[in-house]
Amino acid sequence: MEMHTDKSDRDRNTRKKVAYVAVLVLIIILISVIVASLVHRKILADSSGGDAPWHRPRLPTSLAPQHYRLELKPNLEDFVFTGTVEITLYCLEPTRYILLHVNLLNITANSVFLKKLRGESLTLEDWFLYPKNEFLVLKSKKSLETGRRYVIGMKFQGDLLGDMRGFYRGFYAANATHNDRRYLAVSQFAPMDARKAFPCFDEPVMKATFDVTLVHQSEYTALGNMPIRQSEVRSEGWVVDHYYTTLRMPTYLLAFVIADFSYKEDVTGVHGNVTIRVWARRNAVTAGEVDYALSVARRVMVYYENSFKISYPLPKLDIVAVPQMRVPAMENWGLVVSHENRLLYTPKLSPVWKKEEVASMIAHELAHMWFGNLVTPVWWGGVWLKEGLATWAAVMGVDAVQPTWRAKERYFAQSLHQILPVDSSKLSHPLQLTVTGQEDVTRVYDQLSYKKAL
Ligand SMILES: [Zn+2]
Repeated sequence: MEMHTDKSDRDRNTRKKVAYVAVLVLIIILISVIVASLVHRKILADSSGGDAPWHRPRLPTSLAPQHYRLELKPNLEDFVFTGTVEITLYCLEPTRYILLHVNLLNITANSVFLKKLRGESLTLEDWFLYPKNEFLVLKSKKSLETGRRYVIGMKFQGDLLGDMRGFYRGFYAANATHNDRRYLAVSQFAPMDARKAFPCFDEPVMKATFDVTLVHQSEYTALGNMPIRQSEVRSEGWVVDHYYTTLRMPTYLLAFVIADFSYKEDVTGVHGNVTIRVWARRNAVTAGEVDYALSVARRVMVYYENSFKISYPLPKLDIVAVPQMRVPAMENWGLVVSHENRLLYTPKLSPVWKKEEVASMIAHELAHMWFGNLVTPVWWGGVWLKEGLATWAAVMGVDAVQPTWRAKERYFAQSLHQILPVDSSKLSHPLQLTVTGQEDVTRVYDQLSYKKAL
């Protein structure tokens, strides 16, 4: 067959080509307009002058969080967690902007809402992230009114990373051959990583109460700051644990542990009304490695209650030994978490100094239940207040439970004489430091904050 072309065919082809080009140009213009509008929206969020509330490093004081309803569902097979949060806010000054902290979380786009505590929904004109200050900004169409309560809420998702910050994953080998790796989900929120687990007002002065629900796979036990109020079984091997409402507390003291650990328990407190449990890997508990920590905790708690004349305000205290942790131990209210090498003590095998280390850690973290938890520095520049007092109280606590160690006399050699050369060197600094971000906070957690204040 032969190809046949004439002039009219050529004209048709030319018209077709022109039409194609026109459509292509239109598509390009359309895409450009969409991209430009998105970019414009992004810039809009970031261009309200340098004085927009999200450009400042601290949260505005126009809104105060009062109560959180938080549900978290960590999956220890694919290492993601999903969550829902609802926060009741009290409006102190009229504002259209609600700022809170978020870091490394995906917020579900259509889940974000704002409403009056008892009343209708309010229209959100926009919401956006401002990663430089780890802010999530919600913009209400109408201004919030002084003296009224509002609720914001959203769904979100994050990764259980092995980074030992926020809500993270740890692991251990369940047997000596190391071929049976077990995982756990654990939190380390102090100083500024609660925002990596759930959207929140992540400043110590922004205290609130928390209703926590943890959804976990049935082979694990979940622990929170408070005892479990109600537990239910869901399909496909999931268990839902609802915890009693916490006392008013800062976000950095909230904690969760989901692990297949076991424990030993005792009862403590002047009135014998506090259940104390020390948790660890099953083989460590069986070998008696948590017994010493439990014995110190039981006796130090009674000593502190008698000395401070203020009762420990919670019905329980869990102390958990975890295999991976960024700091030696953390004083979460009702749920102390410690690196296992600071808590486990093997009778007849561990050296004596190990016993002293365990006693000091327990006495220090329990002292924080009063110094730091009951009374909290308003901002991280005041870290020395809680650390200095906890270090001081721990010397007394250790002396009370192990008088033959002469902890009070040894304080001069172990603390005072160690810190004097540092304090007289160029490394010294005022105890009260100006702190704005994460880097500054790590600077205040040094030996001076602990030992000079003591
Ligand atoms: Zn401390």
